[in-house]
Amino acid sequence: MNEINLVHLYPEILNLYADRGNLLTLQYYTKKMDMSLNIKNITLSEQFPEKCDLIFIGGGQDRDQEQVSHDLLRHKDVINHLVNKGVPVLAVCGGYQLFGKSYRTSKNKILEGIGIFDCVSVANYKTKHKRFIGDIIINTPNEIGQIIGFENHAASTFLGKNSEPFGFIEKGFGNNGVDKTEGAIYKNAVGTYLHGPILPRNEKLTLFLIQKAIEQKPNLLQKFINYHDQNVQRAFKSGKKFANKKYSFMKRVK
Ligand code: GLN
Repeated sequence: MNEINLVHLYPEILNLYADRGNLLTLQYYTKKMDMSLNIKNITLSEQFPEKCDLIFIGGGQDRDQEQVSHDLLRHKDVINHLVNKGVPVLAVCGGYQLFGKSYRTSKNKILEGIGIFDCVSVANYKTKHKRFIGDIIINTPNEIGQIIGFENHAASTFLGKNSEPFGFIEKGFGNNGVDKTEGAIYKNAVGTYLHGPILPRNEKLTLFLIQKAIEQKPNLLQKFINYHDQNVQRAFKSGKKFANKKYSFMKRVK
């Protein structure tokens, strides 16, 4: 009852660009609030745990996504149920694509997603052999505010009519390099292309996820502190300065 139960999906397969740093950040902040974060790693063929207050899934390359996509479908109903109840999610890049409706890989294989987000992703959409790579700054329309990070993906993601973007591009490419949207948000589930990892530099998103994870736990809600860490705030500022100086670009892959 006193702990936050976090389910980490396929940690040994979807783990690009230090995505695990997101969990270390959650651990750091929850410790400051005297809460304990219980991380349950779930891999291929394993059962989804009974207790789940927060879900994290990281990024991976196409072959990694192929490895997990079918297995993830086993959890489609339970994850949809939890998200509709308000359980927060952080789904990054390859994980975000699989939490959408489908992903067409660079080898033209369609991977069915679990449909948390109303979006489809397509590798190399009109951009053969190019990737969206670089530092990125986005503005969310809610209390999460401005977010910085790093993106590296071949796929373009297109949101459905009723889908809400996580943020809007100030710098970088985001979902598809065209419509200025980045990621998706549904209830308290956030899908995003931002690696980096995202949480160590974006305190407000960390606080949002923790607050939503404990919404049904009055004893933990009492402990919640709007904790501000100077190092994280400094990392945000210097990341933003860097992103503004450095050019983002589409790199040609040989
Ligand atoms: N394979 C996907 C793409 O390139 C996801 C990559 C990632 O997770 N960084 O679009």
